[in-house]
Amino acid sequence: MTETIPVTLTVKKFFDCPACGQGEFRYDHLEPGRSWGSWACDECGVWIDGTISAAGLPQVKYSEKLPNIPTLVLLRLRKPLKDGAFVHAVIEAKCHDGKEDLIGSGDEFLYNEHTCPTNWLGIAIIIDGEDTDPHGVFEWVATVKRPDDWDMDNERDFDGLCELFPALREACTVIDGELTPPLIVAPVG
Ligand SMILES: [Zn+2]
Repeated sequence: MTETIPVTLTVKKFFDCPACGQGEFRYDHLEPGRSWGSWACDECGVWIDGTISAAGLPQVKYSEKLPNIPTLVLLRLRKPLKDGAFVHAVIEAKCHDGKEDLIGSGDEFLYNEHTCPTNWLGIAIIIDGEDTDPHGVFEWVATVKRPDDWDMDNERDFDGLCELFPALREACTVIDGELTPPLIVAPVG
């Protein structure tokens, strides 16, 4: 047994959805005075707008609830790797507009400019130069309705993903069973 030593604590700050209390929103990457609009609650579907107060607390308001339609979104890392190839990501998301013909509408703006990729990558922070909240690190390619039998743990085969996203087949190749460039399949954060 070693000597007793102090541990390092890491505090991560979330607020609960003000409508349902179930959805969680991480906000500690936003500085006081920073506003956002709108984040969707994955649990109940309301839209939440807010501002971080001078005291560092989120002040929020929320919109009416609309039915969610599960989707899959194909994104592409905006900056290429050294060999010129682009990393792709497929994420599980939702269309919050309640109509199938609206699937994908607004996603180009959402992913290219609006949302912080930490919201869906599930990592603490992304740093691009001195920017600790870089939006548009990944750019939107396509959004499709998520198949009813989609199972993220099992749907990593390249051909299956290419059926959903034909653009992938042009962008990626498979060498000895390994995708190149790599493909990330991630749940929405
Ligand atoms: Zn909610």
